[in-house]
Amino acid sequence: MKKTIYKASSSNIKKAVDILNRSGIVGFPTETVYGLGGSAESESSIKKIYEIKNRPLHNPLIIHVAKLEQAKKIGIFNNIAKKLAEAFWPGPLTLLVEKKKNNRIVSAATSNLESMAIRIPSNPIALEILNIFGKPIAAPSANLSGTVSSTNAMHVLNDFGDKIDLIIDNGDCEYGIESTIIDVRSNKVKILREGSITKENIFDCLNQNIEDYNDSKIISPGQLDKHYAPKAIIRMNIEEPEKDEFYISFGYDLSSAQTINLSKDSDLNEAAKKLYSTLRKIDDMGIKKVAVAPIPNIGIGRAINDRLARASK
Ligand code: AMP
Ligand code: MG
Repeated sequence: MKKTIYKASSSNIKKAVDILNRSGIVGFPTETVYGLGGSAESESSIKKIYEIKNRPLHNPLIIHVAKLEQAKKIGIFNNIAKKLAEAFWPGPLTLLVEKKKNNRIVSAATSNLESMAIRIPSNPIALEILNIFGKPIAAPSANLSGTVSSTNAMHVLNDFGDKIDLIIDNGDCEYGIESTIIDVRSNKVKILREGSITKENIFDCLNQNIEDYNDSKIISPGQLDKHYAPKAIIRMNIEEPEKDEFYISFGYDLSSAQTINLSKDSDLNEAAKKLYSTLRKIDDMGIKKVAVAPIPNIGIGRAINDRLARASK
C-alpha cells in the first residue's frame, strides 16, 4: 500500500494544501475528531467526500474556516451567532446559520439547503491548513457513514486506506467527540448535537434558555437514532454485565469481566477522549456483546451518553 500517513510538519501541511488545491481529499486532525477535508468550492471534491464516506447526499457537511470574517462571507451571523462565535471560536462549536446568497460554496456540500453549518477548529494543525489554503474546507468526520468517528490517524487509514490522498497525523484528538451543533437561525436557540461545549456553557454565554433537539423536529441527520455505531451490540447503564459481555467501565473495575476502563478517575473528559478508540478496539477484537457502565449525564457526559445511545440502537 502506498504511504498515506504523514506527520504534521510544515512541509507535509503544504503537501496537504497542494492536494486540496487539486480537489483531492485529505484526512486531518481537529480537536474534536479527524476530518475528511476537501475544498468547499470544488464540485469534484465534494462529490468525492460523499462517495468515499458512502454518505447519503441529504446529510450536509460542516464547513470549516480559519477566521470569523471568512465565516461571515458565507453565512449570515445574527447577534446570537456573533456572540457565540466570539465566545467559543476557535473551538468545538458548530453554528447552524442561514447561507449567504452568492457564496462560492458548492451547493451539494450543504445538501442544497438554505442553511449552513460552520465552525473554526482550534487544533493548530487544522488552523494552519485552513490559513494556508485560504478557502473554506468541507469536512465531515473521517469515518465511513454511520460508523464510529476517527480520533487518530490509524482510524482514518483503517476506514479509507489509499482512497484518500494523504492523512496528517497529529496523535489523539484533544476532545475525541464531535463538535456541539447549535441552530442559531432564530432567537430560539436549539442544540442539534451535544458535544464538549455544553448546554450550560451556551446558557452562561447567552443567558437564555436552550432548547433540546428532542423538543424540535429532526433537522440534522446527526440526530438520527442509529449513528456512531460499532458492529457489537451495546447495552448501557449496566452495573453488572452478563457473563458473555465485554465491559466498558467508568471509575471502578469489575474483576470478573473482561474490561476496558474509560477513566479510572471517573473523569468525563478522559472518557470522551477514549470512547471511540475503545469502540473501535472492541470491533477489532471481534467482540459481539458489550455492556457499558453508567456514565453521569452531566457536562460532556451527556454527549457520551447520546453517542452510546445511538451506538446501542
Ligand atoms: P459530521 O460531519 O460527520 O460531524 O456530521 C455533521 C453533522 O452536522 C451532521 O449530523 C449534519 O447533519 C449536521 N449538519 C451540517 N450541516 C447542516 C445543516 N445545514 N442543517 C442541519 N444539520 C447540518
Ligand atoms: Mg460524522
